[in-house]
This record gives sequence, structure tokens and C-alpha cells, in this order.
Amino acid sequence: MATALHAPPVVAIVGRPNVGKSTLFNRLVGKRLALVDDTPGVTRDRREGDAKLGDLTFTLVDTAGLEDADASSLEGRMRAQTERAIDEADVCLFIIDARAGITPTDAEFANLMRRHGDKTVLVANKVEGRKGMDGLYETYELGLGEPVAISAEHGEGMADLFQALDEHFTRLAEDAASAPQAAPVLAEPEWDADDEDAPDIIEAAPRTHPLQVAIVGRPNAGKSTLVNRLLGDDRLLTGPEAGITRDTISVDWVFQDRPFKLFDTAGMRRKAKVQEKLEKLSVADALHAIQFAECVVILMDAEHPFEKQDLQIADLVAREGRALVFGLNKWDVVKNKGSFLKECEEELARLLPQVRGAPLVPLSGLTGKGTEALMQAVLKMDDVWNRRISTAALNRWLTAALQQHPPPAVAGRRLKLRYMTQAKARPPTFAVFCSRPDALPGSYTRYLVNGLRDTFDLPGVPLRVLMRKGS
Ligand code: GDP
Ligand code: GDP
Repeated sequence: MATALHAPPVVAIVGRPNVGKSTLFNRLVGKRLALVDDTPGVTRDRREGDAKLGDLTFTLVDTAGLEDADASSLEGRMRAQTERAIDEADVCLFIIDARAGITPTDAEFANLMRRHGDKTVLVANKVEGRKGMDGLYETYELGLGEPVAISAEHGEGMADLFQALDEHFTRLAEDAASAPQAAPVLAEPEWDADDEDAPDIIEAAPRTHPLQVAIVGRPNAGKSTLVNRLLGDDRLLTGPEAGITRDTISVDWVFQDRPFKLFDTAGMRRKAKVQEKLEKLSVADALHAIQFAECVVILMDAEHPFEKQDLQIADLVAREGRALVFGLNKWDVVKNKGSFLKECEEELARLLPQVRGAPLVPLSGLTGKGTEALMQAVLKMDDVWNRRISTAALNRWLTAALQQHPPPAVAGRRLKLRYMTQAKARPPTFAVFCSRPDALPGSYTRYLVNGLRDTFDLPGVPLRVLMRKGS
């Protein structure tokens, strides 16, 4: 291993010019940037800094700029410098530009990276607002596994990047402890399209790290009361672990033998003084917490459910691709509970179709009633979020869906959808091969999303269906 035991891990950012290496470097290092050692030929042009992502700290090395060096020996220099950075790193972030697609230079870099495949994280940048998603699918061709989709410029996807780095750092820590008989690594099962015996729904392997849950919502929804109730004492006030950033507090917590990391955003709110500020903060807080959470609980005051801010936050959660649970708090004071719950369910379906089927759990943080059901819903949604559907089942389903409701014709030619597969989980993301992806109306994609939800029991989580050119 490149670093001494206990030193912060070294992470190198690698990739061709213009993919966004420096932008990512600046985002993760921020003002802590230090230009180091410019001894010619050694680390010249190489930027290093202390980086922080969530509660991970590491030394980040940016290889951007190497390509600008002395033109006469550009190739050799770039390669030598980059290879040195890769050799010295514990983990490499190999960045590609999802909007530009895979260029020949990317492919060259990929050849280099595949030799270091066990420490390489493939990162597809510039996918803000999901615009680069088509390019994202192309990245599978590089043979470097599932890409982490981010927008370095807009800070999207940082939670997924956190997850990927966390897994590598855990591996490093385990290697350092060098257990003589390490547990065998179980490969994820792959299913053949025509393997009729494969199960339709493949449940995720048991997780090895705490389930990261954020509780967000408008001021006074009852977040602090609920968190304190869940933790069973006032640990949040008395002993918070300074968490993921200065502004968010995380608490490690065990519920029914399952480890959780709970992110509370209320602590920050308490510092604000005027109500107007509070209103703004709760969305900003939520954004922050969402980046680190796997499942987000949107806590609402049952007396005023689905206010504009709740909807904004829910939309953010869906766009960031997180699992989502709604808590209807202060249920103790609600009258006509039965009919009111039904009304709320209808509101949810009407206002937030993109997360159809998300659980709506009545509870009272004050009395504790319903809090267990809330946590059960969180666990269930995490399962759904991690779920994988076999390729065989997807294609059987696709055939039937196409028959039932054929895609439209464009310029006299019927659009053809030929094959589909699940590209990734967390959230479930599917790639469908289509003769003219650009011409397929959004309504047809929504038809497929709704069908997938119902057929494969995928309620509530944001689902992605990527149309990919192919025949
Ligand atoms: P480097 O050469 O790999 O270090 O790339 P830079 O960080 O200098 O970025 C190259 C260009 O891509 C700049 O114009 C950035 O503003 C832009 N860029 C970086 N990240 C993103 C992103 O997430 N989305 C978009 N749309 N542009 C980005
Ligand atoms: P936060 O701003 O979201 O952290 O909300 P707090 O936890 O500070 O609660 C705001 C107010 O709502 C306080 O007066 C709480 O006592 C009250 N509250 C919280 N949960 C409940 C509940 O389940 N039922 C009732 N009736 N009141 C609650």
C-alpha cells in the first residue's frame, strides 16, 4: 500500500483534459488548497490538498495541468506524471465527461486504469439535471464497472462519491489490519437474458455500513422532538458527534439490531434568529443532508401537510435519487384520522407522481406512537432502493409492455425498443435500447416507469429509465 498506516489515504483525480478534474478538486478541497513541492520532474504542476467529503478526510491529488506541460515531450511527461500519481495513490478517481461521451483519449486512460482496477472509481461528471445520462450509459463500455454519476460544478452526486470512497477506505483499513483469512468476496450474481430460472427480483446483499438516514422538514415540523424520541434520550443535545460537516450533526444509532447513521438538520436551525431565515434554511439544510443520506425522511406537520417547501424538498430528494419516506407528525392532535390519512395519500399521489407509492407514516414524536412504523418504512424503502431485477424478467416484461401499448410511429416508422437491462441500483436505473431514443416521447418513458413500479414492486423510489441507441 502506498501510504503508511494511519496516514490519511491518498486519492488521485485522473482523466483527460477538460473533464472537470480541477472543478472536483476545488469542490473537495475548497480553501484548504495547497500548492505543493514544485521540484521539477517530481511533483511539478501537481496539486495536492486536504480534502473532506462527509466525515472522510483524505489527501487529494489533482493531475490536471500535467497535460499542459512542455509540448515537446507532452506524451511522455503526462504519462509519467500521471502514472506516478496513480502508483502513489490508494484510490484513483478516473473522471470522464458524460456529456462528451467516450473519446479515444478516455479509452487510452481506461487502458491504464484497468491495470489498477481494484483501486479505481469510475466517475461520470457533468450529469447535473440528468442531462448527461445517455453518456453515462456509454461508460459501461470502459470495463471499469458502475460509474458514479456526479456534477462537480453543481455538487450533485456527492453522496454516491462518498459511498464509493467509503467502501475503498474500508477496504484499505481492512487490508491494513491484514486479516489472515479474509472473508471470500462474493461476486454479484449475473443473470443471462434467457435464464428462465433466475429470480426476478434480486435482493441486495446485507449492508456492511450503517444505513444513512436524514430527517428533514420545515421548521417546527417536530424534527428535534422525533430525533430525541428515536434516540431515547437527549443525546442529540448532549453528545453530538460533529458529523459530516460543520453544519450537519450525525448520530450513530442502532434500531432493531440494524446500525443507522442519523443526520439531523435541526441543530443548525437553532442557530438562526429570524423566521425568514428559518424558511430558507430548511431547504438549504435538506439539500445538505440529502447529499449524505441514502434514505430521507420528510417530516411534515400533519396539520399543514404538503406545503410548498415539503414539495420542493421531495422533488430535490427524487432528483438526487434517494429513497424517500414521509412522516405525518403530530398525529396525536389530528381529528378524523381515517379520512384524513386517505386525503393525504391522494394528495401525495397527485402532487408527487415521480415518487408514487412512497410511504406516508402517521406518527407522533411527542408520544412515540408510530415511530417504529416510520423506521420500518425506512428499512423497506432501503430494500427497494437497493433492489435489482434480473435481465430475463425485465425483457419478458418489456415484450408484454410493448404489446399492450406499442410505441408511437415517427415519420411513418414505428419506434423499436429491443432490449433492457438494469444498469445500476440505488436508485434502480434501467437502460432500454431503442432505435431512435431522441424521438421517443417522455410519455412513453413514463408508461414504462409506471409499469416497472407496479410489476417489480418498486414503490416510492425514484426510477430512472435511460434510452440508449441500439438495434
Ligand atoms: P480539467 O481540465 O479536467 O481539470 O477540467 P476543469 O475542471 O478545468 O473543467 C473543464 C470545464 O468543464 C470547465 O469549463 C468547467 O467549468 C466544466 N465543468 C466541470 N465540471 C462540470 C460539471 O459538473 N458540469 C458542467 N456542465 N461543466 C463542468
Ligand atoms: P423542529 O423545528 O422540526 O425541530 O421541531 P421541534 O421538534 O422543535 O417541535 C416544534 C414544536 O412541535 C414543539 O413545540 C414540539 O413540542 C411540537 N411537537 C413536536 N412533535 C409533536 C407531536 O408529535 N405532537 C404534538 N402535538 N406536538 C409536537
